[in-house]
Amino acid sequence: MLKIAGHTFSSLYRWQLERYRYGMGVFKVDWALDGPIPFTAPECRQAGTIHLGNSLEEILASEQQTSEGKHPDRPFVLLAQQSLFDPTRAPAGKHTAWAYCHVPNGSRVDMTTAIENQVERFAPGFRDRILARHTFNTSELEAFNSNLVGGDINGGILDVTQLFTRPALRASPYRTSAKGLYICSSSTPPGGECMACVGTTPPGRPCRIYSSASRSPYLPLKAQGAFRLNSASDTGPVSPKKAPGISGGFLLVVERIGRETRKKSLLKL
Ligand SMILES: Cc1cc2nc3c(=O)[nH]c(=O)nc-3n(C[C@H](O)[C@H](O)[C@H](O)COP(=O)(O)OP(=O)(O)OC[C@H]3O[C@@H](n4cnc5c(N)ncnc54)[C@H](O)[C@@H]3O)c2cc1C
Repeated sequence: MLKIAGHTFSSLYRWQLERYRYGMGVFKVDWALDGPIPFTAPECRQAGTIHLGNSLEEILASEQQTSEGKHPDRPFVLLAQQSLFDPTRAPAGKHTAWAYCHVPNGSRVDMTTAIENQVERFAPGFRDRILARHTFNTSELEAFNSNLVGGDINGGILDVTQLFTRPALRASPYRTSAKGLYICSSSTPPGGECMACVGTTPPGRPCRIYSSASRSPYLPLKAQGAFRLNSASDTGPVSPKKAPGISGGFLLVVERIGRETRKKSLLKL
């Protein structure tokens, strides 16, 4: 935004944008497979999205290492196997899948082996089913979509400070300092990982209320419920139809009454 329209912004707004911080990047692998992933756990053979971490302790250790600029041997892997549910993704009998793990922002390290080792760990025989693969390191991701700065798929680090100052501290974060120019993206509240939400928020109004509750790899799983409740900021009914970009997982619907945010329901998508 600075590059495109920086000259139209006030010096204070420019100063704030220059200090905006990005978070971890991701390394992503796409696979063409000879068959479905042979997960040992039957539940995993039926799931659209799988978080491969073994235990909460292992997930935390892996994320901790990444946040310290390291590359874990056993990364926390987010995996999607769409062709199990959408036959148009692959020829009959064949399958597709993709997975990513977090890496330090801007990392060029190839995590293919580490990711495939993790999948093989929970699905012995997976490697034998790989027909072809394509990988993206963080700079290749950024070349593909310049919004993925340093491979950050979240549009900026989502910590307590930047949750409320995305991308700058303003009465309405969706208004820039330039008249008639608005920003509505994962770099505005409530942040990334809310596909469809970011694009449908009317400029200058608080964001509406849904989020894919099962999908924040940045937080300990136990903290997600509370985090999501606090990040919501509007009232009114919401149905899954209003979130066309989200499928699989859960939709946490909350309402805000005065200063209090309450959980209304958890819908399975
Ligand atoms: C591999 C991966 C997996 C993900 N998994 C999930 C998930 O399971 N659940 C979930 O909720 N979220 C997920 N996300 C995150 C989600 O995709 C983002 O949070 C969301 O797309 C952000 O929306 P946005 O509008 O801010 O940016 P984007 O969707 O990135 O859109 C930005 C657009 O602007 C264009 N653009 C950028 N720079 C310029 C320029 N200078 N000029 C013109 N056009 C430009 C880009 O080409 C792009 O089309 C994932 C992201 C990735 C990459």
